[in-house]
Amino acid sequence: MANLGIPRNTIEILQRYHFNFQKKYGQNFLVDVNVLDRIIAAAEITREDCVLEIGPGIGTMTQYLAESAREVVAVEIDRNLIPILEDTLSGYDNVTVINEDILKLDIRKIVEERNGGEPVKVVANLPYYITTPIIMGLFESKVPLKSITIMVQKEVADRMQVGPGTKDYGALSLAVQYYAKPEIVANVPPNCFIPRPNVGSAVIRLTRYDTPTVRVQDERKMFSLIRASFNQRRKTLVNGLCNAAELRLSKERVTGVLEEMGLPPAIRGEALTLEQFARLSDLL
Ligand code: SAM
Repeated sequence: MANLGIPRNTIEILQRYHFNFQKKYGQNFLVDVNVLDRIIAAAEITREDCVLEIGPGIGTMTQYLAESAREVVAVEIDRNLIPILEDTLSGYDNVTVINEDILKLDIRKIVEERNGGEPVKVVANLPYYITTPIIMGLFESKVPLKSITIMVQKEVADRMQVGPGTKDYGALSLAVQYYAKPEIVANVPPNCFIPRPNVGSAVIRLTRYDTPTVRVQDERKMFSLIRASFNQRRKTLVNGLCNAAELRLSKERVTGVLEEMGLPPAIRGEALTLEQFARLSDLL
C-alpha cells in the first residue's frame, strides 16, 4: 500500500472514496513523513509492543505503527472511515480497527483482552476537541500504560509541560505531571495536515511513572482542590477554595493550613507546586 504520509497518496484515497471531512470530529490528517518518523521514534515502538491508536483517520500512522509494533488496536469514531481503513490496512494482519467513541470505550478491557493486562503504548494524532478528557480518562481509569505519545494543539502541549508561576500552568499541568513525565518532542506547523488546522501543533510524550512522584492520602480530594484553585485564576487560593461550595471549607481553616505550610494568606493557586497541593490536601 502506498505511503499515506505523502500528500498525493492521501489526496488520491480521499478522492477515490469521496470522503467528506467532519469538522465535529477534529479531522486533520497528517501528511508529512518526517513528522510520522519522529512520532514513531519518540514512542520507541518495538516488536514487543501493543499500541493503542486513537483516531486512525485513513490509517496513515496506523501503517507506520503496524510496521514496527507487535499489535495495533485503532479506535475510530467515524464509520465512513471504516471501509477506507479496511483498504489502506489490508496488507497488515496485526491491526484491529474498532468503530467506537474512545470516550465510551472500556479501554482497560481492551488492554486485558489484547495484551493480557500488560501496559500498552498509546500513540495518536488526537482530535483536539477532546484532548483533555482522553488523557485524563486514560490516567484516571488506571489503564495499564507505558507512555502516551500524541499530537496535540501546541498551546495544550505547553500547558502539560510547564511548572508554577507561568500563565499556562493549571489543573492540566498538575494532573499530567502527577502521573507522567512530559516532554515535547516536535513542533508541527499547520501545513503538515490536510486540511490545515487553525492552530499550531506539537508532539508530546508522557512517560508514565510507576508510582506518582508525590504521595497524597486522597488523590480525588487533591484534584478537587486543584480544580477549585484554578477555576477562579485571578482570586487568591483561599477565596478559590472557599467559593467552591462542594469542598465545604472555611476561610479560617484554609488560612490556618497555609500558615502551617509557611505560605502567605494571599497566595494564588498558580504559585503552588504539586508537592504543595498534596500537602495542602493532606492537611485539610
Ligand atoms: N490519525 C490520523 C492522522 O494522523 O492522519 C487522523 C487524525 S485526526 C486529527 C483525529 C481522528 O480522530 C479522526 O480520524 C477522527 O474521526 C477521530 N475521532 C474524533 N473523535 C473521536 C472519538 N471520540 N473517538 C475515536 N476517534 C475519534
